Amino acid sequence: MNFNDTPEEARFRRQCFEWLSTQAAPRDNSPPLYFASLADKVSASRQWQHTKAEAGYGAITWPTQYGGMGGSAIDEIIFKQEEAKFLVPPSQFNVSLGMVIPSLMAHASEEVKARHIAPALHGRDLWCQLLSEPQAGSDLGMIKTRATRCEDGRDGWLINGQKVWTSLAQFAEFGMVLTRTNPDAPSFAGMTAFFIDMASPGVEIRPIIQANGHEEFNEVFLTDVFVPDSQRVGNIDAGWKVTMTALGNERMSIGGVVPNDIIRHVVAQLRATAEACQHHGMIERLNALYLKAHGLWLMQCRGLTALSKGAMPGPELATAKIIACQVLSEYAQFMFDLQGSDGIGSPSAINNHWSVIEDIWYGASGMRIAGGTDEIVKNSIGERVLGQAPEPRTDKGKMFRELTAQSSR
Ligand SMILES: Cc1cc2nc3c(=O)[nH]c(=O)nc-3n(C[C@H](O)[C@H](O)[C@H](O)COP(=O)(O)OP(=O)(O)OC[C@H]3O[C@@H](n4cnc5c(N)ncnc54)[C@H](O)[C@@H]3O)c2cc1C
Repeated sequence: MNFNDTPEEARFRRQCFEWLSTQAAPRDNSPPLYFASLADKVSASRQWQHTKAEAGYGAITWPTQYGGMGGSAIDEIIFKQEEAKFLVPPSQFNVSLGMVIPSLMAHASEEVKARHIAPALHGRDLWCQLLSEPQAGSDLGMIKTRATRCEDGRDGWLINGQKVWTSLAQFAEFGMVLTRTNPDAPSFAGMTAFFIDMASPGVEIRPIIQANGHEEFNEVFLTDVFVPDSQRVGNIDAGWKVTMTALGNERMSIGGVVPNDIIRHVVAQLRATAEACQHHGMIERLNALYLKAHGLWLMQCRGLTALSKGAMPGPELATAKIIACQVLSEYAQFMFDLQGSDGIGSPSAINNHWSVIEDIWYGASGMRIAGGTDEIVKNSIGERVLGQAPEPRTDKGKMFRELTAQSSR
């Protein structure tokens, strides 16, 4: 392991830092930027994405032909680490640019790419991902949203169904939707991907109010939504391939969903807290938490070292995701407890630094589910790392129609 930058990495880091210094104020110990609403946050993020894209930093790993920098995964992490030192809006484009557009690049027609990639890169268009349904999350093979060929002479499809947990759908201009086109095929073989204009007739978006009062995700109801065949992505009944491209592109951090620099931030905050920590029980908690967080940070460094050498990080990052979510919850709880009775106040009542901790507290629960739930990750560690027997499956070799009949009995 070597945690130091290579000379090229150090040069790129300096270049990023210098450019960022001309665009934003340093973060130092100031509270993060405050946004009165999610709409304001999304709007500021669009503007910042535009600024980055204009300067060539909009998509570090994308090929240059699509407006990217053609950099490596480690270049992207270096940029994000430097960006975290400045007061900039948090990105709302992780799904749009990190997952959906890369699968458009891989599977859409040249016309679609020519028309849609640049507005997405420049933050004008936000794309959402319409995969999960009320009865299909971990097992996307069970999605029921139907796409059927139009029978009125139009060259297109009608989509009917319901999606759920669609992040930022209420702000998105476009959405990539996974549909069922052939119920008489095996579950993963009869699905097709389309993209839809979120303002199309028949698209109804209902935000879901979360425990923290935010509305980051939505239910999306699709009723006779017309989609021209030119908005099909990939071949008919080959939608799973398109989806796999998107899921495979979840950015490397820990398991793809834990923000890149958060463990480093937690380690630094715990160190800074040591002096204020006087009570014996709290000192014990601090020490135990520090050890876990520092161990995680070293694991993440191993992943970064692998990337820096052009290799892919091993399964340790999947393992780390489970521990990371626990550490983040424990950290937020510890910081609240350290404030005594003040800890139950809202961030605005204490100070805006606390909004970061409150976000970590609520966010950690979501991270346990997004990008594969803890249980699913544990199954895959059991099977792929420990070589245990696969989970018994009752759906193998069965057609989707048979499976839905089976589940409704
Ligand atoms: C922050 C966040 C953002 C999201 N954004 C999006 C988005 O933009 N677009 C989108 O389509 N979806 C999104 N999702 C939804 C997410 O993909 C699903 O919540 C996730 O796949 C789990 O599916 P589910 O909620 O239906 O739970 P289920 O799959 O129903 O699981 C319920 C419980 O059963 C367990 N379980 C399921 N299968 C197994 C098994 N085989 N073995 C053992 N245990 C099992 C799970 O671990 C879980 O505890 C988001 C979720 C979160 C938290």
